[in-house]
Amino acid sequence: MDDKNLRQAGLKITHPRKRIFEVLEEKRHKHMTADDIYRFLLQSGEDIGLATVYRVLHQFEAAGLVAKHNFEGGQAYYELDSGVHHDHMVCVETGKVIEFISPEIEALQEKIAAAHGYTIQDHSLVLYVRPKRNS
Ligand SMILES: [Zn+2]
Repeated sequence: MDDKNLRQAGLKITHPRKRIFEVLEEKRHKHMTADDIYRFLLQSGEDIGLATVYRVLHQFEAAGLVAKHNFEGGQAYYELDSGVHHDHMVCVETGKVIEFISPEIEALQEKIAAAHGYTIQDHSLVLYVRPKRNS
């Protein structure tokens, strides 16, 4: 991984920080809970406790390296903060998190805020979904 990312964020490179960053860097691990990260590390033979995982995630969040999402009815999900805005869908059956970007929705939100005399500073949109069944 890129040690620069941790250093640039003002964090010293420690083994847990390095490993947790690496896990989040993998595409298939894009959105993970602290538990997911802990279990994944355990399965890869790493002895990094859950409390450490939480502590490191908190440090990453404070340093602006990760974004934390508090989706409804579950644990917080973490992802590396790419700086690119996107919204999420969460499958209520599997907990899978899907990212999407919709220029139409973005534009519509701007329009709605403007109609109320505001400009948008930030927003988060989460769709709670379930797999479509063709019957
Ligand atoms: Zn995301």
